[in-house]
Order: sequence, then C-alpha cells, then structure tokens
Amino acid sequence: SEVATMMDVPTTQVISACMSLGIMVTMNQRLDAETLSIVADEFGFEVDFVSSDIEESIEEIVDSPEDLITRAPIVTVMGHVDHGKTSLLDHIREENVIAGESGGITQHIGAYGVQLGNGQKIAFLDTPGHEAFTAMRARGAQVTDLAIIVIAADDDVMPQTKEAISHAQAAGVPIIFAINKVDRPEANPEKIKEKLASMNLLVEDWGGKIQSHDISAKTGLGVKELLEKVLLEAELLELKANPDRLAAGTVVEAFLDKGRGYVSTILVQAGTLRVGDYVLAGKNSGKVKAMQDERGNNVKEAGPSTPVSILGLDGAPQAGDKFSVLEDEREAKDIAAKRAQLHREQSVRTQRHITLDEIGRRIALGDFKELNIILKGDVDGSVEALTDSFQKLSTEEIHVNIIHKAVGAITESDVLLASASDAIIIGFNVRPAGNARTVADKEEIDIRTYSIIYDAINDLKDAMEGMLSPVM
Ligand code: GDP
Repeated sequence: SEVATMMDVPTTQVISACMSLGIMVTMNQRLDAETLSIVADEFGFEVDFVSSDIEESIEEIVDSPEDLITRAPIVTVMGHVDHGKTSLLDHIREENVIAGESGGITQHIGAYGVQLGNGQKIAFLDTPGHEAFTAMRARGAQVTDLAIIVIAADDDVMPQTKEAISHAQAAGVPIIFAINKVDRPEANPEKIKEKLASMNLLVEDWGGKIQSHDISAKTGLGVKELLEKVLLEAELLELKANPDRLAAGTVVEAFLDKGRGYVSTILVQAGTLRVGDYVLAGKNSGKVKAMQDERGNNVKEAGPSTPVSILGLDGAPQAGDKFSVLEDEREAKDIAAKRAQLHREQSVRTQRHITLDEIGRRIALGDFKELNIILKGDVDGSVEALTDSFQKLSTEEIHVNIIHKAVGAITESDVLLASASDAIIIGFNVRPAGNARTVADKEEIDIRTYSIIYDAINDLKDAMEGMLSPVM
C-alpha cells in the first residue's frame, strides 16, 4: 500500500504485479528490496534506497581513518572430517594463554582469543567447519578474516576439503593450508601440495602465493609457525577498527543457562562493549549485566576482535545475528520488537534468492552481472563437461561463475553456500540428499536436476536470454 501511494497507482495493481512474480502479498505486507525494485520497474519507476531495512535504520557510524587502529584477525578452521580441525583448535587453546592471565581457557563460549609470544593476538571461532561458517554468512554475517584449511597429510584432498576451499573462496576469505598429521610415518605433505597445485592452488613452496605449513596438531609441531603465517597474512589485509565508539559485532552463539539466564557469546568487531551498555542483537535486546571472557573471568569492557559472553539479553539471538550498542534502552527495545514483527510477517517468505526463471528479468533490469552456480554431478566427466559449457555461456552482460563443483549428491552445505552466495544449484544425475530439499525450500534456493547434459545447457541458455518458460 505504501509503495502504491508513492507511485500513485492503485494498490490492487501492485498486488497483482507481485502475484505475477509468484509472490502472494497483502496490503500491509513489507516487500524486500529486490521485489520492490522489480515491482517499481513494472510501473516505470526506479527505486532509490536510502536505507534498505531496519538493519540500516540504525545509524551507521562512519569512522574517520585517523580513529582506526589495527585489530586482531578473526580465524575459522575448516577441512575434511577427521583431518584434525578440533585437535588444532584444542592445541591452540591449551598452549596459548594470554600473558599475565592466570589459568587456561576453560569455557567453550564459541570463540576464543590467544596471544602469541610477541604480544600479537588472534581470535578463533571455536565452531570448526565450513557449514557453520557459511550458515553465518547466509545470515548476512561476515566475521571471518582468514580461514585455516586443515588437510591430513596421510590422507588426500577430500570432498569436504574442496567444499571448504569453495566456501572460503566464495566468501572472499584468504586461505592458509595446515598440512596436518606430519608426525605420522605415512604422512606425505608433498603429495597434498601437488594435489593442490593440480587444482590451481599453488602454495608458497610450489612458487605460489598461498601460505601453507606442515603441522602436527597432536605434538604441536609447526603450530606456532602456522600462527605466525596467519599474522603475516593478516597484516596484508590491514585489518582495522575504531575502539572509541559504540560497539558493534556479531553473535557467535547463545543459549539459556538455568542459573544465569540467556548467555550470548558475541564477537566485538568495532568499538568497545562495556557492562551497562544497551545492546540490540537480532530480535533481542537488553542491558549488559555482566561480561566474561573465555577463561571465565569477569571483564568490564571488550574491544575489537574480542570474543566475550554477555548476560542480560531478553532472549537468545541466533548465531550470525548482528549486534550493536544503542544510546538508549527504549530505542533498542523498539527496534528489536519491530524486527520480531517483521520476522513474523515475513516468515512465509524469507530472503528471495535468484531462480532460473528470474535470471532474464534481472539481467534486463541491469543489476545482475554474475550468475553463481553450484554444480553437482554423478561423475567427474559430466561435472567437467557442464562446467565448460556453462562457462562458455558467459556474455558481456553476465558472467557465469561456478562457485563450487563436485561429484556427489546435493547436500545441505551446498544449499547454505547457495544461500550465502545467491547461487542456483544444478544437479546432474544426482538429487538433494538428507535435509537439503527442506532447507532449500526454506531458503528459497532453486535446485534444478537434469539427466541430459543438453537439457541443462539449454535451460541455462534460455534462462539467460530471458526465454525460459516458467515452471508452474
Ligand atoms: P576433525 O574431525 O577435523 O575435528 O578431526 P579431529 O581433530 O577430531 O581429529 C581426528 C583424529 O585424528 C583424532 O583421533 C585425532 O587424535 C587425530 N589427529 C588429529 N591431528 C593429528 C596429528 O597431528 N597427528 C596424529 N597422529 N593424529 C592426529
């Protein structure tokens, strides 16, 4: 109704425009940014977004360069199952106690900070794996600065290793390889590096740019050097933040503790969080009553790149929710309530992702330059053949980007990656496995499966030319 008034057209026409896009709406329903653009375009209007949603209605603090100081990198550990992610995180947690602090890290709060001998710090997300990483990203949270990808030297570059690489690359997060288990007699790190090279991932020893280090998460061999490489890589990223402003960051995990109430671990990404601050986190809000670090010590403040668990929120926000400190409690409460309401209104339709049917229209609108595809197939041959053919469909206007390809069924992790990267999933002689279909429906991810190569290529070609007849 609001947008109809702005365009001076009858509300019913806006509703039917939405319906023709396959979106059932009522008068008072809110439309997401993309739908708004498409609908406005139908009526010859262009939408100029001043602030795109409530997220942005919180005044964006613009830091001037002189207020920015270097902050510690935030690192996620990924890799194939059993290759040693947990062992590496445990080893780092046990070995690195912040200088001058008593006691080791006793609490698992979802993230922890370590300080190396030279005083430099690194923050680790304590939920290893690319699924957790991409789930956060699908919620709009980009927390990780660097990814350590663990590969067991007595094994191989495995399917989940490849997934982890694709997930990190899709997020634009630099990778450092940790070639693990070199204490084992069967370990052959060179074989792993050779395999990586064959995938166009040249590590430094092989004349490339990607950092890699041989380690043993079990004995600790090489871990210190690996962390030094992390810091070196971080330096190139010139990570900075302003500590002297209201804090903002991301929720890492949250749960209800019988004795203490809601406990939320957050990672401060900008500003300094203090006890007594009014916090808005996703659909929740509250005044910070107490804060603890990963050692269980009470702390009064937490600066950029510091993980801390807080008490005082009126509920458990979701991992990946953004949090920010607001000047007054009322405002925090109001926005949280509005978000909760929006969430209820939109629970029928979550975020809208690209579908094959929509590609032509989006290209015509001119705001769509890259078509991201996740390709899964039954055998290597068909995956490679399709990759080649799809890439050849790229035109001046639109670039076809295969962000992940692999042999195997379509998994939940593929769907999450599609959601985080706005991609469509194409399966050749494979189907969604386990929970993938359910999650895809919820996230509105377009999954297309084919058994004839020609059909897959033709559909994509037609879609890009805006000629695909919609499937009903
Ligand atoms: P994750 O599934 O990637 O988290 O792998 P884990 O950390 O659970 O490790 C899987 C298994 O490999 C465990 O039995 C570990 O003890 C073992 N492991 C991990 N790192 C090393 C290592 O550097 N050397 C040896 N020998 N074993 C390791």
